[in-house]
Formats: sequence, C-alpha cells, structure tokens
Amino acid sequence: MNDPRRSLPSVDALLRAAPARALLERAPRQLVVDAVRDTLERVRLDPAHAPRDDGAWGKAIEAALEERQRLSLRALFNATGVVLHTNLGRAPLPAAAIEAMREIAAGYSNLEYDLDRGARGSRHTHCSALLRELTGAEDALVVNNGAAALLLAVNTLASEREAVVSRGELVEIGGSFRIPDVMARGGAQLVEVGTTNRTHLPDYTAALTPRTGAVVKVHRSNFTMHGFVTDVSVEELATALGEGGVPVVSDLGSGLLLPLDEWGLRGEPLVRDAVRSGAAVVTVSGDKLLGGPQAGIALGKRDVIERMRANPLTRALRVDKLTLAALEATLRLYREPARAAREIPTLAMLTTPVERVRERATALQSRLASAGHRTSVVSSDASVGGGSFPTSRIPSAAVAFEGDAVAMEAALRRSEHPVIGRIEDGRLLLDLRSVPENDDASLASAVLAAFA
Ligand SMILES: *Cc1c(COP(=O)(O)O)cnc(C)c1O
Repeated sequence: MNDPRRSLPSVDALLRAAPARALLERAPRQLVVDAVRDTLERVRLDPAHAPRDDGAWGKAIEAALEERQRLSLRALFNATGVVLHTNLGRAPLPAAAIEAMREIAAGYSNLEYDLDRGARGSRHTHCSALLRELTGAEDALVVNNGAAALLLAVNTLASEREAVVSRGELVEIGGSFRIPDVMARGGAQLVEVGTTNRTHLPDYTAALTPRTGAVVKVHRSNFTMHGFVTDVSVEELATALGEGGVPVVSDLGSGLLLPLDEWGLRGEPLVRDAVRSGAAVVTVSGDKLLGGPQAGIALGKRDVIERMRANPLTRALRVDKLTLAALEATLRLYREPARAAREIPTLAMLTTPVERVRERATALQSRLASAGHRTSVVSSDASVGGGSFPTSRIPSAAVAFEGDAVAMEAALRRSEHPVIGRIEDGRLLLDLRSVPENDDASLASAVLAAFA
C-alpha cells in the first residue's frame, strides 16, 4: 500500500523552502513554524488534497499563517434582521461615541480628577448629571452591565435580608443569566410570592416582614404572557409600600429613552416613566434600546444610589473610561430627540421606513446580479432583539439567494469579512434592517468576495 502520509515533507524541509523563507521575513518564526505544523496536520487528515509542489505548500502555509494572525474579535455584518443581537455585540455605537472614545483612549483624562478643585474626583460623576436630566431621576450610577446594576441594587438593599419577587418574574434573561440566581448572589434570601400567571398586591404585602430588604419587579423583556394573567405594577406597589417604606427595585432591562410608537413599536416602558413610578431604583442596560456601550445604569432615589455607590462591590463592577466616554456622548444626543433617532444607529435602523430598506435591498440585489448571482428581493420580518419588544415584528426587506442555503450561509460566515444572514424556508436571506445604511457598499463587496 502506498500511504501518501509517508511521503510528507518534514517541518524543517518546508521551512527551508523559498515560500516559507519569504513568510519568515514578515512574521515571527514561531508563528510560521506553527503554521507549517497546522498545514501538515491538515494534510495528514485529508491526504487526497495534499499540495503537489513547493508553490502549493507555500500557499497552504500562508493561509494557515493568516488564520493564526487573525484577531479573535472581528467586525462583521449583521444581516440577520435582529437589530440588537446579543451574540453579535448588540448596539453599534454612534459616530459621536466613537469619537469620544478615540479621544479619551489616546491620552489622559479627568476620569477621577476634579479639575475645579485640583483634587481627586470620582468616575461616578461623569454621566450622572446627564442621566438625571434625561430621566428625571434624583441620582444615577453607571456599572458594567444591566446584570451588575441589579446585583448591586439587591446587594445594597437586601443583603442578608429578604427580597420579595413574584413567581411570574423568576425569569431567564438569556445566556445563563437567571434573575433568582443573580438575586441569591446579591446575598438576598428570595421570597417568592404569587403564581406564574397571577400575582396580586396582597401577595406582596403578606410577605413583608421586618427582614424584608426590597421588593424586586422584573420587566418581562423577552416574552409576553396572555390569558388569565394578573400583575401588580411598580406604581401600585410603591404606593402601597409608602414613601420611606420597603424599597422597590425595578429591573427594566432595555433603556428606552424615546417613545417609538410612531414607528409601530409599542409596549416597551420608557425609562422616564419607570423612574416616575416610585421605584427606589430602576436598572437598565446601556447597549439595548439606549443604543450605547455595554453598561448598566441604576437610576433612583438619592439616598439609595448613594448607598449603592458606597458599596464595596461597586469597585468590582465599575466601568472603564472608554465606556463612560461612549455613554456620555450617546446620552448627549438625546437632548435633541430627532438627532438621537438619526445618529444613534440602533434607533436609525429601527425607524428607517420599510420602503428605504427595500430600495437598499434592491441596490444590493442588482449589484449581486451583475456579478452573476441569482437572487431576489423579498419582504421580511425583522425584530428588535436584545430582550425588547419581544412580539413586535418590524417590516423589512431582504435579498434571498437561490441555491444551497446551508453552504452559502457558511461561506459568508467563514469569509474574511464575515456576513451573518439567516435561513428561512430553506433560503438564505440577508436582511438589511439590521445593517447600518453606511455599510451597504462594504457589505456588497464582502458578499462578492466571499462567493468569489
Ligand atoms: C437584558 C436584561 C438584563 C441584563 O442586562 P445586561 O446589560 O445584558 O446585563 C436584566 N434584566 C432585564 C429585564 C433585561 O432585559
């Protein structure tokens, strides 16, 4: 038997050949050696496709080297139609936020320095005035993400005490983040009240003891319940518990600062209304409907936010200067709502008229057609994602490909500049609702390159 693996060149021989020597000029030796080993390993597994000559070996080694040099975290095109896709990094940042990050990243800043007094300051001052202005809250604190804001609120108010929560709100938000687990990690003893579908005010009040630290309300952000359902609003609870009584923590999830009713997106609570409801603390994410960087924002009563700020956990959950820079620049856009809707990519994508999305899909389709690809423009249903407006479908338009959807999806996903589409009814779709309009030209080039 003639086993082709027997005749494989050695690592040394491959490194001495001209193609590898050229690669050694532009990459660290160890990396080239590893790329040679990767190539040999691949050929051992698939000997039928072994390179036939030095040139072919060189190409294979170069490809392996490129793979090793590739960054792990890479930019891609989200053509899934899910605008806030947690796996794909949620909100693309507005240009103003990127500019602010660039400026702060490149040098020193007054992150924890009070320029008026010439003395040590606090990083917690930077977004709080703007958050108070935009939400009506007495005070605000920014931490790493929404889960951290809830953890900190529960830990501050109910550590070694009881936290009362409805059985209808013991939910999983996604990616192994479960509300009861977070509350337990916050040090609170969970007191479940009501049932999955119905919880009444007396269920809460009957559960109160001298050990109650907080009542927690969790917004059903990623599902809805219909039928025989009763729920107690934060407002009712706060009124019943009274000013100065047991504090209500309202975990809102998405931070919607502008009403989107005009665009057919209804039912998601506005942050300003949640703050007004009487909750001691409202927690929201920075990178959902707010459209900014990953962050968790706690908005609430002055004394409660002050206690949260003084909690030693805050140090472990604090945000870095780049997040603060991006968040402040994003929040500032909300002073002019029309500008926010235009310049915050998440809002712009959600509010683009479907006719415009269809025009863009048609332009992409004709560019692909002129390169010989058989595609058509189809109507599609996009969605908000990220645990917001769980039932809203946003009318959209997509380019649908003819041919092997599974193979084409993989080719786009694994290409140099990945494009993530979705397969529906056996067809590969690229939905333009979740692609920022400025990216249209580069998306077309990426698709053409992936299929070349
Ligand atoms: C998304 C969400 C969270 C978690 O926020 P992250 O920023 O993802 O940590 C918490 N609660 C609710 C209701 C949410 O929708």
